[in-house]
Amino acid sequence: MALADDLRARIRDIPDFPTPGVLFKDITPLLAHADSLRAVVGAIVEHFDGDRRPDTIVGIESRGFLLAAPVADRLGAGVVLVRKPGKLPWRTVREDYDLEYGSDALEIHADALRPGERVLVVDDVLATGGTAAATVRLVERLGAEVTGLAFLIELAFLGGRARLPGVEAMALLTY
Ligand code: AMP
Repeated sequence: MALADDLRARIRDIPDFPTPGVLFKDITPLLAHADSLRAVVGAIVEHFDGDRRPDTIVGIESRGFLLAAPVADRLGAGVVLVRKPGKLPWRTVREDYDLEYGSDALEIHADALRPGERVLVVDDVLATGGTAAATVRLVERLGAEVTGLAFLIELAFLGGRARLPGVEAMALLTY
């Protein structure tokens, strides 16, 4: 089986989770399968190695953390966390963003990135793009530069990529 087909087979569709109308992409079977996890991490590392190599990986809470850490390790980079409000213990910078109904926010430690640092943002799913766009704004507010975004899954029909102009965004699987 081709790699993409093998990975797709390990992603479970959960209708109406966490709210009615959402088809949730459950990646836990993929994460639990050693060869699949290694293949995902390896594909992201391969794409962003060489000229595109970042200084730091920013992982988005919470499934993004699970991919950010092994990618960082293999690229010789550190990991910085972007979290929901109230989770980070030190001084933070905050960005609010709109959801389909209501709004949410993300935070980063104010001293987490140095000006000019090259950052790769990692998350599991690119949906409407609000989460990733808010993360890009957080990175830029600290004076660092987003040189790439990596997702395991892109839900292309939601058009999230349009909210990430001018940045190289790669997704391993597109729906
Ligand atoms: P968005 O801001 O709409 O791009 O949503 C991206 C964030 O929400 C990611 O951190 C995902 O983990 C999560 N997410 C959104 N839609 C889904 C979905 N259909 N299945 C799994 N996770 C999702």
